[in-house]
Amino acid sequence: MTVRPAASTVRSEAAFERAQAVTPGGVNSPVRAFRSVGGTPRFIARASGAYIYDIDGNELVDLVCSWGPMLLGHAHPDVIGAVADAARRGTSYGAPTLAEVDLAAEIIDRMPVEQVRLVNSGTEATMSVLRLARGVTGRNKIIKFAGCYHGHVDALLAAAGSGVATLSIPGTPGVTEGTTLDTVVLGYNDRNAVREAFASFGTEIAAVITEAAPGNMGVILPATEDGIGFNAFLAAIAHEYGALFISDEVMTGFRVSRSGQFGLDGVQPDLMTFGKVMGGGFPAAAFGGRAELMQNLAPVGSVYQAGTLSGNPIATAAGLTTLRLATPQVYQQIDRTSATLRAEVAAALDAAGVPYVIQNAGNLFSVFFVTENVTAVPDYATATQQSTGAYAAFFHSMLGSGIYLPPSVYEAWFLSAAHDHRALNRIVEALPAAASAAASASG
Ligand SMILES: *Cc1c(COP(=O)(O)O)cnc(C)c1O
Repeated sequence: MTVRPAASTVRSEAAFERAQAVTPGGVNSPVRAFRSVGGTPRFIARASGAYIYDIDGNELVDLVCSWGPMLLGHAHPDVIGAVADAARRGTSYGAPTLAEVDLAAEIIDRMPVEQVRLVNSGTEATMSVLRLARGVTGRNKIIKFAGCYHGHVDALLAAAGSGVATLSIPGTPGVTEGTTLDTVVLGYNDRNAVREAFASFGTEIAAVITEAAPGNMGVILPATEDGIGFNAFLAAIAHEYGALFISDEVMTGFRVSRSGQFGLDGVQPDLMTFGKVMGGGFPAAAFGGRAELMQNLAPVGSVYQAGTLSGNPIATAAGLTTLRLATPQVYQQIDRTSATLRAEVAAALDAAGVPYVIQNAGNLFSVFFVTENVTAVPDYATATQQSTGAYAAFFHSMLGSGIYLPPSVYEAWFLSAAHDHRALNRIVEALPAAASAAASASG
């Protein structure tokens, strides 16, 4: 396999040395470390529109988009303007602001929730929503699906997709048996497993939590059987047993459509979690649901939840501006870019004879470098049957051509409204060489 070197990586290599001395693995979130593709992560100096610029002086077309948040592209002038204005008015008050009310209202306008609470990360949102679900139902058990990632919440760090999958950590040390004892992990799209779990201990189950359309083991779609989608099936069986249905839209929310996966399949959850796009590149996330459920939170109810920086004015300004700018036209444009790119990737891999499966939820998609004659990836067990070597070769060839892909075969590719013809053309031009590199690596 020949990897075309980018202009330079010297500074990133030196930075990574320094970083590894002061931070475990040199990164503040594991999947940034390039462990599954090898090589040195690029250290980023700045970003603008569809591009990120590393400290080595390379301009890279960005298909990671901060793992989802940058729906409008990097450093959108209106978002930066709103952030600067907010910062000048003070950076945190620990008291309510009108902008938080506006952000909540924008979320409620798009999503089937009556009330939301703002938090700082997707992890915090899922952690809090589980507490609420358990507090409301008085039950302990949670059903989750293998390969679905809900942040690094102790109880949900069992078979948790991407970062964990990439690193092959079976669960993780530091999470006690007692914590995961109440977590039931089932195969995604496996309805019989769900039926059996409810039949066995239905009265102990507080909630079923799922990614609305999983994006953390590659993009996997909720399958339809007998005209009923997997999310609708989960909502129905949960309700049959008095449990809650929680849809985690941290990745899909405000991305796969204006109303997330809910906008695509219309399934109404009891509780939902949001993050990524709604923070516009700042730490902001939320959970929400029917008022009757949300009213169980302190200070009205008895389920405690809090946060010094929750609803932070700068993060709120970024999120509010991002959501307001994300018009239906923006989604149509990203959908078109995504469709074109998916077709171009497919054509390049076909030409090189590389087996693949491409799956998408709206504009969110991933390319599975499948090993066998796999034609669809419905679950985590299938997702793990990939050639990480083929992807590593593909990834490094693209990087050498100035295209920044997610550094793991288990991740979705993210586009933004700033990915125009110039950016798309650069990606398309880089594809044939990368497809050949993948072919050599897998052959
Ligand atoms: C990213 C993600 C999370 C965690 O969000 P953080 O902000 O990284 O804590 C939770 N759920 C899903 C579906 C995600 O994609």
